[in-house]
Amino acid sequence: MAKRDYYEVLGVKRDADEAEIKKAYRRIAMKFHPDRNPDDKDAEEKFKEASEAYEILSDEQKRAAYDRMGHAAFEQGGGAGPGGFSGGGFGNFSDIFGDVFGDIFGGGGGRARGGPSRGSDLRYNLEIDLEEAVRGTTTRIRVPTLVACKPCDASGAKPGSKPVTCKTCNGMGQVRMQQGFFAVQQACPTCRGRGTTISDPCTSCRGQGRVEEEKTLSVKIPPGVDNGDRIRLAGEGEAGMDGGPSGDLYVQINVRPHAIFERDGKNLYCEVPISIVDAALGGELEVPTLDGKVMLKVPEETQTGKLFRLRGKGVVPVRGGQPGDLICKVTVETPVNLSKQQKDILRQFQESIEGTRHSPKKSSWFDGVKAFFEDH
Ligand SMILES: [Zn+2]
Ligand SMILES: [Zn+2]
Repeated sequence: MAKRDYYEVLGVKRDADEAEIKKAYRRIAMKFHPDRNPDDKDAEEKFKEASEAYEILSDEQKRAAYDRMGHAAFEQGGGAGPGGFSGGGFGNFSDIFGDVFGDIFGGGGGRARGGPSRGSDLRYNLEIDLEEAVRGTTTRIRVPTLVACKPCDASGAKPGSKPVTCKTCNGMGQVRMQQGFFAVQQACPTCRGRGTTISDPCTSCRGQGRVEEEKTLSVKIPPGVDNGDRIRLAGEGEAGMDGGPSGDLYVQINVRPHAIFERDGKNLYCEVPISIVDAALGGELEVPTLDGKVMLKVPEETQTGKLFRLRGKGVVPVRGGQPGDLICKVTVETPVNLSKQQKDILRQFQESIEGTRHSPKKSSWFDGVKAFFEDH
């Protein structure tokens, strides 16, 4: 495969200066770095390509050779001749990393250096009703966040002025410090690692490049979402620093408890109280579903705790598939506030079933108790 032009790879003009090349490389490398794109071959290729381009173009001699001869300048017998580019694994780029990244990809403790950085991700807790979670909804949310300052175009410098190259570090963002035997790179104390300083700060953002703002966003909640699901709104987090990309906003779904239904995955559960008469004789019950009421046929001799399954009356999962079921649990209710006459009827009824086999559970329970006492 023919190699792409190094300037094209980094997206810079042929007369780009060192800072522009570094900035372009940093942007590309951050986007395609393998740590951020695990198992993405395409990203890895782009990352290697950009790293190779940067290695050549950031070196004055190599760049001059490349300008004269193009890629041929580094193709001496396919290997890494003197001044040649060795290609291959990331190990070769460690020195570039130390130089350009330091902080970002773990090149030695803390944020040693400024430059564009991605804005923070934000989380927004959104409470919705079960009905909204099941059917989906669109809602507007207000999110306090940091956005790029418009008057200064996020530079932090007063409109009309520009950040100037930091004199302490000559725009490198780092200074070399001697500590015992070791020379260590440290963030430049003057520019805090940015490489530039602002002599005339923007008044809107006080030189920060970002301002607090409450954003109103429309969030589309897909049908079937559940408690704890997160919806990602790419780029709606905090604005980046120094022109870095914005973070993302994660909308975390909290479903309010429902008066009637409990949800477990795609199934819904509800408790249906029935009278002792309906339980004994059977009958038709009106039960609620999220789509309105339906009739449920209860057979005679229905015991408390019995489950009835209404197929397809549950939830269609957010990732698609068959809808779940609505499971109704029957609870036989003891009547209250009985009149004297009603109580008499029940006593008569009780006498009529005395000594007969009308209460299978009660009988087996008594048998069990009897056996228990005989064993002990
Ligand atoms: Zn500096
Ligand atoms: Zn500003």
